[in-house]
Amino acid sequence: MVGFRFVCTLSIAPRDLRLLLQKLKDQGVDLKPFESVLISPLFSRPETIRLVRKLKEDGTIKNLYFDSGGYQVQKGIIGYHALCNQLLHFYRKNNWADYYILPDYPPTSLDSPEEIQLKVRLTVEGGRQFYWELPSHLRDKTIGVIHGRSLDEIHYCLVNYKRLGIKQLGFGSFGTRGSDSSINILDKRSLESIAFIRCLYPEIRLHIFGVGNPPTAYVLSTTGVTSFDSSGWIKAAAYGNIYFPFTRAYNVSFRRLEKGKGTLSEDAFLQLKDLTGHECPFCRDFREISKSRDKRVLHNLLSMAETVEALNKVNMQPEARNIILQWSPNYTKLLR
Ligand SMILES: [Zn+2]
Repeated sequence: MVGFRFVCTLSIAPRDLRLLLQKLKDQGVDLKPFESVLISPLFSRPETIRLVRKLKEDGTIKNLYFDSGGYQVQKGIIGYHALCNQLLHFYRKNNWADYYILPDYPPTSLDSPEEIQLKVRLTVEGGRQFYWELPSHLRDKTIGVIHGRSLDEIHYCLVNYKRLGIKQLGFGSFGTRGSDSSINILDKRSLESIAFIRCLYPEIRLHIFGVGNPPTAYVLSTTGVTSFDSSGWIKAAAYGNIYFPFTRAYNVSFRRLEKGKGTLSEDAFLQLKDLTGHECPFCRDFREISKSRDKRVLHNLLSMAETVEALNKVNMQPEARNIILQWSPNYTKLLR
């Protein structure tokens, strides 16, 4: 049986990726956090693509997702039609991935209802044309992207993808925040949309794009989605933050001036290790993880992989809920 899957979003330099893999190997870590990986090939260096291909061929990566680059369209880095053309060219030449995400045009929270409607229509129409222009052996590996804030828009995406016979869909329309509205947040409305998709199309394998820390992984696992991708592990580490299985991120680098609710003292750190039963070679020493970004990156990655591994076991739910209620109360409203 295929379980709930964490897909690691890779947007790091090849040198850094090699280093992380080497450190995991040197420490004899059993978990394989890089088994499922997502990259945006149009926005990755050729060197990264070569390395990822090698890792796919030697079996380090088992599930490789090519992302469309919709995020770059959302940020205005590339136009939607240019993206479709370049992506088609790349997909046709590279048949070594496991999943091919169709092009999409993600709306943001700043868009008017008319703008959202237009982006949803362009996503579906562009995706449909793209699908037929792909070689037939790649069509079964495609993931159609569902956008839309209203249920009507989501319904429109579903009906069209169903007609094409696509077996896997991805949902990417979240509330957004950040100065350029490009940070996805999982809110009640997105959860309702996910429930609607599951209800209308229960047999579909559903991937969730670009959200996720351990508590959101828990919330997503209760909605029946099959996978999600996140780069939260590396971003959190860069800001000096760490999370444990089922907890939100806490700051340990003490870059913030005042030590508020978001920071973690050494005592609380030890308490969390005990409560979650988490042990890894990168969080043995509080001072070291406070100072070393690499240690935080690997610890966060392993905490995320452990969270998902635990969610694939039966009877983990009550324990996970308790940790979330106690250590990540902001997520309580999303629990069912
Ligand atoms: Zn650790």
